Amino acid sequence: MADKLRRHPWKVTSVGDEVDSICSRCKEETIHRVVAMVGENIHLVICTRCNSQHRYRPSLATMREKTPLPSKRQARIIKKLEKTKTSQSHTPLRDWLNLRETLAGENPSKYNPTENYREKQVLAHPSFGLGFVRRVVGASKIEVVFEHEVKILVMNRAKSGQE
Ligand SMILES: [Zn+2]
Repeated sequence: MADKLRRHPWKVTSVGDEVDSICSRCKEETIHRVVAMVGENIHLVICTRCNSQHRYRPSLATMREKTPLPSKRQARIIKKLEKTKTSQSHTPLRDWLNLRETLAGENPSKYNPTENYREKQVLAHPSFGLGFVRRVVGASKIEVVFEHEVKILVMNRAKSGQE
């Protein structure tokens, strides 16, 4: 039971109790008195320092306790989202800058989907510019870091007679 209480401190709170909450007026964590509850959750609190009433924002400690670490799957999604976000920005990708620094000596060859690429190879793409193979994805795809975006490109494509 003691264990349960420690893990769910917000569940045993009721109106009139004192809780740590972040106060938007004091701009820090202060002691608040619970004014209203919604079910088992604290809804409204009043700051005991400045007397402002606002919605409950859990203290940092509670938030950390309440929010479990993201699962591997969530972490992957977050990473993906972050990647999409960066790839839309106009500043060069950090990865790209790093790779450019490390692989500066290599001569970029023109990207050719029928060619075989390996990790850390440098290529020049007609529309995306200078790219670095960050990862080989299976037998026919590569993940390439360009200045502003990460792209999955085809490799080892069978040469058609028309080329
Ligand atoms: Zn306050």
